[in-house]
Amino acid sequence: MDRISWNEYFMAQSHLLAMRSTCTRLSVGATIVRDKRIIAGGYNGSIAGGDHCIDQGCYVIDNHCVRTIHAEMNALLQCAKFGVPTEKAEIYVTHFPCLQCCKAIIQAGIKTIYYSMDYKNHPYAMELFGQAGVDVIHVPMNLKEDARELFGI
Ligand SMILES: [Zn+2]
Ligand SMILES: [Zn+2]
Repeated sequence: MDRISWNEYFMAQSHLLAMRSTCTRLSVGATIVRDKRIIAGGYNGSIAGGDHCIDQGCYVIDNHCVRTIHAEMNALLQCAKFGVPTEKAEIYVTHFPCLQCCKAIIQAGIKTIYYSMDYKNHPYAMELFGQAGVDVIHVPMNLKEDARELFGI
């Protein structure tokens, strides 16, 4: 029996979450993990109960969709909402985070970022991660291809 690794398991979870994204511009998923347990998850989407980009189109200002909350922020805010500590946690994201999410991840006390796909990786983000002592680890995964191997489908 082939056992999947923790990295494969948590990153697969983020890729599954990305499939729940409601913004047509980018499907992103994020999973927050502490002591090898999933404590929160998020995807790129609107506020709860709000209009979805997939129904109403994106609300674009300065080439950014302002309707959505990024997956990483949604996962962090889920922890805030339910009072779950993120200190020394880890986050698995399908795409390298934007600068705003990078700062939020650092400030939430997360110590390791695992990302699957490069996405406009900003050099300032790497500088901030260095200053904050956050490890950034590339975990390549394409769920649609890897799932066939993992689940034998
Ligand atoms: Zn959108
Ligand atoms: Zn972001």
